[in-house]
Amino acid sequence: MTILVTNDDGISSEGLWALARELTRVAPVAIVAPDKEKSSIGTAVTLRWPIRVDRVESAIAKVDAYSVTGTPSDCIILASTMLKGKIDMVVSGINHGANLGDDVLISGTVAAAMQGYLRGFHSLAVSVEGLDNHRVDSAAKLAALLSQWVGDNCGSDKVFLNVNVPNLPLAEIKGINITRLSSGTHIDIAREENDGEPRYYRLVRHRTDKVSDDRTDVWAIEQGIISITPLHTSLLRRPTPMIPVSLCSSLFQDLHNNHHPA
Ligand code: MN
Repeated sequence: MTILVTNDDGISSEGLWALARELTRVAPVAIVAPDKEKSSIGTAVTLRWPIRVDRVESAIAKVDAYSVTGTPSDCIILASTMLKGKIDMVVSGINHGANLGDDVLISGTVAAAMQGYLRGFHSLAVSVEGLDNHRVDSAAKLAALLSQWVGDNCGSDKVFLNVNVPNLPLAEIKGINITRLSSGTHIDIAREENDGEPRYYRLVRHRTDKVSDDRTDVWAIEQGIISITPLHTSLLRRPTPMIPVSLCSSLFQDLHNNHHPA
């Protein structure tokens, strides 16, 4: 079993190397990560430009490391080809900053894990909350323990887990909850910044009010509890919406007859 480690904070990230080091206790590890920070890039892949892969000096014995001029999802796709048949699990992180609720849709950390999951690997995304001074050691140890458990127990039933760890000393972490995604965890707004012309905007984030639903990931983190959220890709397998089949032919006819909406 080989564990593929990636992230969206880039190959130089402290969290990436702390994670890879701990995972060597579980299985052989390979690192394939973006050469630069790609946070908030979501599921983006690079189709219109060539991607360069460079072997980088590894700080961990027997761990090969590569930097990629692409996105976290690119890293998984490339590694699946480069290490064909060798990967059994993808662990993405340790991200510097939480990935909670709806934010999993823009997170490069979670997207890399999803890309792994879609390719048939057990996949974990692991993040530590907070804006700076992230404590990555406990999160890395937890990731190793969880990876071991998944490898031993989940077999062909692939899992996709989003793990968030409070940025606290281990002694102050209150427990581990299995959670579901909160909704509306952040509100993104465009703020005009006015220092002359041309005017420009910056997208900024505001946290919503305290969450009261104790089943959610946000609630857990607010309480100092580690959150493990099982994810799946049902977004891609929605039930067919109730649109009558006859609509298609009438739309097509209107199109041909150059009808406009009334
Ligand atoms: Mn990041």
